[in-house]
Amino acid sequence: MSTDKDCIFCQIIAGDIPSAKVYEDADVYAFLDISQVTKGHTLVIPKAHVKDIYQTNEEIASQLFARVPKISTAIEKSFKPKGINILSNTGELAGQSVFHLHLHLIPRYDQTDGFNPTWITHPDDYSANDLAEIANSISQNI
Ligand code: AMP
Ligand code: ZN
Repeated sequence: MSTDKDCIFCQIIAGDIPSAKVYEDADVYAFLDISQVTKGHTLVIPKAHVKDIYQTNEEIASQLFARVPKISTAIEKSFKPKGINILSNTGELAGQSVFHLHLHLIPRYDQTDGFNPTWITHPDDYSANDLAEIANSISQNI
């Protein structure tokens, strides 16, 4: 399994940097984000060092997301949030600051709980043709 000794999350997995561990198995590690956007904000990471979603193969992606339902359910049982946002930032512009793939599980308690996705209001200015062209462009690259 690939690791990067300079990567903070690889160091957390190795136990060289402390973390508030939530879950661990052979392939996946989950721990509390040190900067809790809301109570129970958890990061789920593959043990293999992959920089971001572009570098992630299907096996690692499957292993990672396979653990999300049970960790989310445990958060729900613990703190009874009204919902959970699951997100992953790829690239600095998108807010990625640690370059080891991670999923944020952010429990949601109310509209003012600290999580403020800016994309919730968006203009409705793409026509059906625009959408067809965009979808075509992406699908040709899969
Ligand atoms: P992102 O900005 O999407 O790359 O998310 C990286 C997250 O890692 C941030 O929310 C940080 O608060 C969190 N983080 C950075 N260092 C640590 C650490 N030592 N322990 C726990 N979380 C961390
Ligand atoms: Zn790493």
